[in-house]
Amino acid sequence: MGNKQKVDLLVIGSGPAGLSTALHLVKHDKSWADRIVIVERDSHPRPKLCGGGITRLGLDLLKDLGIAYPLPIPMVEVDDVRLVYSERTIHVRGKPQFVVVYRSDFDDYLAKLVQQSGIVIHENEEGKSLQSNEKYVTVETNKCTYHARAVVGADGSNGITRRFVNGPGQPNRVARLLEVITSAPENAAHFIDRFAHFDFTPVDEQLQGYAWVFPANINQQPSFNRGVYDARLARQRPRASLPNILADSMQTHFNEPYTTQLAGHPIHLFTPRNRLSVPRLLLAGDSAGVDPLFGEGISPALAYGKLAAITLKRAFQTGDFSFRDYRRRVLVSKLGWYLTLRWIIAWTCYHLSGKRRFMHTLWTVGGLLARVWPEPETLHSSKFHE
Ligand SMILES: Cc1cc2nc3c(=O)[nH]c(=O)nc-3n(C[C@H](O)[C@H](O)[C@H](O)COP(=O)(O)OP(=O)(O)OC[C@H]3O[C@@H](n4cnc5c(N)ncnc54)[C@H](O)[C@@H]3O)c2cc1C
Repeated sequence: MGNKQKVDLLVIGSGPAGLSTALHLVKHDKSWADRIVIVERDSHPRPKLCGGGITRLGLDLLKDLGIAYPLPIPMVEVDDVRLVYSERTIHVRGKPQFVVVYRSDFDDYLAKLVQQSGIVIHENEEGKSLQSNEKYVTVETNKCTYHARAVVGADGSNGITRRFVNGPGQPNRVARLLEVITSAPENAAHFIDRFAHFDFTPVDEQLQGYAWVFPANINQQPSFNRGVYDARLARQRPRASLPNILADSMQTHFNEPYTTQLAGHPIHLFTPRNRLSVPRLLLAGDSAGVDPLFGEGISPALAYGKLAAITLKRAFQTGDFSFRDYRRRVLVSKLGWYLTLRWIIAWTCYHLSGKRRFMHTLWTVGGLLARVWPEPETLHSSKFHE
């Protein structure tokens, strides 16, 4: 605790949000490498509960960072997203629509890139408390006291920075998730036909979300990543039983009894009213807010990192660390539109999803839209090298 260090930028957390912030800063100016310290309470490769689905938004951002496609880590491509309600299925196609990675591999790969660029990641170092004044933010960790000219709070949904920015008593919208990973046969249809399931049928059992099944490659083993997402946006409605819904989903899709160990984690949802900064500290990734419709957070975290980097560059150029413009910058960006649109759809649909007639109408309209909506451009590895 005796150590003290002055630093220009302290990033708390080395998930996709913190690592993307750092990579975007050094991409434009290598001298940032000596000005950033990242503290991470765990050490890479670290376990992370996550479906590992990275959509085209995230793949584009990785391309921005010079990370070639196909990604240089094990991944499974999903070309057919099956949105299921009762007996009805909407197919959303693209080559790929998204890819599934193992988060431990993905974050470790990004962390290595950050370290290769010269930035120090202090692993096994946990931010414990924050205080700020006009000149710097003081961050106490289990190993050091930092005086940072600016701080990025990329410490996830349960982190200290979100609480610091929001203060006590602010409403905190969180979704609940349960996940289970099991081995899969190599010839499973999900791998051959490259599809993933998002099953919304459990909205009939009060779920405000879906049960998912993703094909995955975990430690070189074909696997299924399955889970349940519950946005809980309509608070007045009864709570769904997530373990029961996951058990039913496993029975329906795999005819498997439900014997596996479950793990769960809440995630902090985006709303257009979320606070995203205080002077000298800005939030990125889950601490700022995740897509409320699907609970998608990896691609948004990469995008928040890019916006945080732009905001920080400007602050260090002008000496204005109020970060007053950060929220506006996020809301008017592609990320802001993406999250706001999903928040509107999520809010409307999860309030009405208990009505079967509404769900059938939604699937009729959605099915028509999916047929006429153009598929995204096919991703060829060569395109990423251009
Ligand atoms: C079950 C589940 C399934 C999901 N599936 C998907 C999916 O398929 N696709 C998708 O896009 N999103 C998914 N998400 C959401 C996704 O995992 C997150 O949105 C994403 O990890 C956000 O990245 P981040 O960098 O903001 O935070 P994190 O990835 O949570 O990283 C935060 C980092 O900060 C560190 N940290 C925390 N506190 C401190 C501290 N005090 N000091 C130092 N370090 C600290 C943590 O150890 C961690 O490394 C899922 C989430 C869950 C729970």
